[in-house]
Amino acid sequence: ESEPPLLELDRLEVSYGAIRALRGISVAVRRGEVVALLGANGAGKTTTLRTVSGLLKPRSGGVLFRGERIDGVPAHHVVALGIAHAPEGRRVFPVMSVLENLRMGAYRFRGGARREDLDRVFGLFPRLAERRTQLAGTLSGGEQQMLAIGRALMARPELLLLDEPSMGLAPMVVRQIFEIVREINQQGTTVLLVEQNAAQALRLATRGYVLETGAVVMEETAEVLLRDDRVRAAYLGEG
Ligand code: ATP
Repeated sequence: ESEPPLLELDRLEVSYGAIRALRGISVAVRRGEVVALLGANGAGKTTTLRTVSGLLKPRSGGVLFRGERIDGVPAHHVVALGIAHAPEGRRVFPVMSVLENLRMGAYRFRGGARREDLDRVFGLFPRLAERRTQLAGTLSGGEQQMLAIGRALMARPELLLLDEPSMGLAPMVVRQIFEIVREINQQGTTVLLVEQNAAQALRLATRGYVLETGAVVMEETAEVLLRDDRVRAAYLGEG
C-alpha cells in the first residue's frame, strides 16, 4: 500500500465570521516535495498555512499529517508533531538577540536548543552566526527573513511552512533565500511555500496550486504552471 501524503488538506473550509476565506480546498504535499501555493492578495494562502499550524480551526474538512487528522490540535502541539511555520511579515522578537530568537524556536525540546540544530542554522545562514548577539529588530529585512526561517528550523520540522519569504526584499536577497530553501529541502525537509512571487516560487517548487478567492483553480507541476498562459498573465507579470 502506498504511503499517505505527508500533508493533506481535504475539502478544507475556513471562515472569519461571515467571510468565507477557504471554500473547500484540497491540497496534498508528499514527503520531500516543495509545493507552492500561488494566488493574488486575499486568495486564502495565509489562511491555509494558519489552519495547518493550528492557529485557525476549519469550519469543515480536515487537515491530515502523516495520514492522521490534526485539525483541532493546538498550535504548540502541531509544532511538536513536526510542522514549523515561518509566518508572513517574519515576526521575529525584535528586542531579543538572534541567538535568543533561535532558542525560542526550540521551545518544544525540554533541554532547549540543540547544538547541532544551531550549527545547522548557522551553516545555512552564516550571516546569522556573525550577528548572533545583535538584536533581531536591528537586522535588515533579508536577515530577519533568514532568522524567521532559522527559528522555524530549530523545531526540527519534517514540514516547513513558509509564508511569503520574498516579501519586501530586493531580488538578489530573494534569490539567496530561495537558494537556501532549496538546500533545506535537499537536507530532507518538506516545504509548503506561499508566494506572490510566482516566478521564483515555481523555479524552486516541484508542484503548485493556484488559489482564487478561497478555491483551488489549478493544480499542476511547476513546469506546466510556468508555461501556462493564464499563470503567466496573472502571476508572472507577462500579460
Ligand atoms: P495576502 O497575500 O494578502 O496575505 P492571502 O492569499 O494570504 O493574501 P488571506 O490572508 O488568507 O489571503 O485572506 C483570505 C481572505 O480572508 C481575505 O478575503 C481576507 O480579507 C480574509 N481575512 C483574512 N484574515 C482575516 C481576519 N482576521 N478577519 C477577517 N477576515 C480575514
